Order: sequence, then C-alpha cells, then structure tokens
Amino acid sequence: MIPMEIDLRSLTEGLNLFTWEATASDLEVEEETGLSGPARVALTVVKTGEALTAHGEVAFGLKLACCRCLEPIHQAVDVTVNLLFQKGRPAAVKDLQDLDDTDLVFYEEDDTTVDVVSQIRDVLILEIPMKPLCSESCAGLCPICGVNRNHETCLCRREETDPRWEALKQFKTQ
Ligand SMILES: [Zn+2]
Ligand SMILES: [Zn+2]
Repeated sequence: MIPMEIDLRSLTEGLNLFTWEATASDLEVEEETGLSGPARVALTVVKTGEALTAHGEVAFGLKLACCRCLEPIHQAVDVTVNLLFQKGRPAAVKDLQDLDDTDLVFYEEDDTTVDVVSQIRDVLILEIPMKPLCSESCAGLCPICGVNRNHETCLCRREETDPRWEALKQFKTQ
C-alpha cells in the first residue's frame, strides 16, 4: 500500500488540507472489486492544540456487473471520512471505538508522521456493494433460456415449476 502520510511537525493550528490519489493496486484492493480508476482522497486535518481530528471525502468510480442480469453498472461513489487521532493507546479504547462513523488513528508520542491509508482503504471497501443491482426491480436472466428479462420476454416462464405440482410430485414418489 502507498502511504497517505500526515506530517505532524508541519501541521499548523486550524485546517490542513491533504489530497491523495490511489489506484486499486496502491490500496491493495482486489481487481474484482471493480474500482474503475484512481480513488481521490481529500482530507482536512484539524489541529486544535493537542487535539487532532480529520474529515474529508473519498471519491471513486466502480464498474460492476449486476448480480441478477450481469449488465455492467457504472457507479460514482463519494463517501465521507471522519478520523479521530489518538496519541498512545489508552485503556479505555473500547469506549472510543463506539464513536459513530469515526475511525480512530493511533500514533505514538515520538511519531513524526501518521499514515491513514488503512483507514481510507477500509472506508472505500465498505462502500463496494456485495450484490450490485442495475436497479432494485431488475428482473434478471431467465434461468432456462438465459434471456435478459429486463429487455425480452420468453415463453419459459410457463414451464417453471409450479409449487403445487412440486407438492404433488413429492406425494407421488413417496
Ligand atoms: Zn440487472
Ligand atoms: Zn426463458
């Protein structure tokens, strides 16, 4: 993975903008996830005294295949990232992990840089649908002749098993 480093020494009080571009291989994301180009990351690190937080966006394109009809789907994703930087590992980490939609980034007292690439990668991966659909109402492919039922109607429908006949068949074989 490429680093997405924040140089702690160069941070100024207030807002610090960072931008990165990363391809699927930079992020060690599998080819099959369908990332169609580099992901663009824009992160604003907010330094308030000792406290460090960051918010921003990860934008990327996806080229997927509908899980019902196999038609290609192009999707633009824009997802929000919220990070909370935590120096050292306090005993009460559990409480911190319950923060909604905020990822924790740990760093040590003498660290000069913090790498956020794994947090960015996690945010991105969560947005990739497991079962992509071209539309909620996609009719899919006919399991018998294979036509795309969104565009064509076939006659196979009638030959599909009627649950009532299925029950009768079972009764006969018993
Ligand atoms: Zn579909
Ligand atoms: Zn058919």
